[in-house]
Amino acid sequence: MPELNFDNAFVRELPADPERKPNPRHVFGSCYSRVMPQPVPAPQLIAWSAEMAAELGLEAQDLQSPAWVETLAGNRLLPGMQPYAACYGGHQFGSWAGQLGDGRALSLGEIVNAQGRRWELQLKGAGLTPYSRTADGRAVLRSSLREFLCSEAMHHLGIPTTRALSLVLTGEPIVRDMFYDGHPEAEPGAITCRVAPSFIRFGNFEIFAARSEHDILRQLVDFTLRRDFPAMLGPDDELNDELLLAWFDEIARRTALMVAHWMRVGFVHGVMNTDNMSILGLTIDYGPYGWLEDFDPEWTPNTTDAATRRYCYGQQPRIAQWNLMCLAKALSALMQQPESLQQGLQTYADAYAEHALRMTTDKLGLATWQDGDEKLIETLFPLLQAAELDMTLFWRLLADQDSEQADASALQSASYNEQAFAAQHQALQQWLQDYLRRRHQDRRQLAEIRSQMHAASPKYVLRNYLAQQAIDQAAAGDYSEIDRLLQIMRKPYDEQPEHAEYAAKRPEWARDKAGCSMLSCSS
Ligand code: AMP
Ligand code: MG
Repeated sequence: MPELNFDNAFVRELPADPERKPNPRHVFGSCYSRVMPQPVPAPQLIAWSAEMAAELGLEAQDLQSPAWVETLAGNRLLPGMQPYAACYGGHQFGSWAGQLGDGRALSLGEIVNAQGRRWELQLKGAGLTPYSRTADGRAVLRSSLREFLCSEAMHHLGIPTTRALSLVLTGEPIVRDMFYDGHPEAEPGAITCRVAPSFIRFGNFEIFAARSEHDILRQLVDFTLRRDFPAMLGPDDELNDELLLAWFDEIARRTALMVAHWMRVGFVHGVMNTDNMSILGLTIDYGPYGWLEDFDPEWTPNTTDAATRRYCYGQQPRIAQWNLMCLAKALSALMQQPESLQQGLQTYADAYAEHALRMTTDKLGLATWQDGDEKLIETLFPLLQAAELDMTLFWRLLADQDSEQADASALQSASYNEQAFAAQHQALQQWLQDYLRRRHQDRRQLAEIRSQMHAASPKYVLRNYLAQQAIDQAAAGDYSEIDRLLQIMRKPYDEQPEHAEYAAKRPEWARDKAGCSMLSCSS
């Protein structure tokens, strides 16, 4: 087995909780608690990411070795690992929630790979920590499988994200009341090993600001800058207003890029609490996420959010800015002139608008954005919604249209509602003509336009029902669908005609099925 080079900077440089027991409690004055993973009865490796393993310098057979399988299940530690759970807080659904922390996640350590890149390994579902509150620190197969597959799918879509290395079954049943409605059931337990350069969240800073533990806040900011943003720092740089502003600006820019990508592909995170916002601008904490099918900006996959729709598709850009404001408030404790952080919120808005415009230009296959083009989009979105058109299918079908005489009927196969489509047919026809006329003005080759459009609009996304089918099969002992989905999602922009059925719109049976259109935070 190859030697791994661990460099556990987080535990080495930041203050630790002196208590080592995992009993749930409030932890003050510390960035983390040292906790051991809780052993499980029967670890079984059922999926892994070959790319992520290679990035760590591992081969598939290394991961399949008993030592690694036990490690990925939390039953043993490899030399160099120093497990810990981080302390963080967060705003949940718009309100300050106090201490949250890694309640069911446990970092094993930071590997520096052969290319000098840092990767932290984290087990999700490895048992109780001081941050588990009233829960058990475990995760079930369905949520673990969803996190495993979607992390990798997002990576291959070119969207900043935490990664996933492995998925193991623990052999321990976990009781969950999936919709919090008094129907608890035993489900298979599982653990995902996820990987990222850093798992630090907005909430890691918020907790120390909220508790007025400003020394620790300063230490954590200094640490994060040095470890995770080394390019921003000269050797003698002090933590002053100027540096903090530049850093906040950078976080704002990264967050804007991430959310613009989500909007581009129709990804809905589902729980954009500030504890689920990565300081690196990575998509993190895959819970009740989903993919927009019929285009509805108010759609949310999260049943917990059904009433207010705070985290629905259309709100995501605004919520990210609200979350940045929470981070700004936390950082302001360290500044002489905190008002200047406002500038970072504007940076976010500007960067988001710029990315969204560029991505929309690509999705429409235009050479450049010109005055008046906004009308195309303003007219299109209500039409997509009224005609109940599948977002993913629509954009790919649009790339196929190539003459000024194009017929809107070509889009019908992407609609979920024949009548609604018929009612919009004429308006769609008009839109299509206006659009093609505009595209024609660019005088570009169709092949060039098409490849631009295809690179901006994936053919394959991890549709909710596809993940659910893989979950149902895995629960019955067949893990092949996980691998198949992973394989297809490796090349989401390619045609892959042999897998065309995986690009089909959501089947009728999945319209209102749990796991396909409805998910809860419970996992
Ligand atoms: P999430 O909504 O998944 O981001 O979780 C919010 C908070 O609840 C985090 O602090 C999690 O660690 C914690 N949490 C969620 N599920 C569990 C669980 N099964 N056991 C312990 N803590 C949990
Ligand atoms: Mg979370």
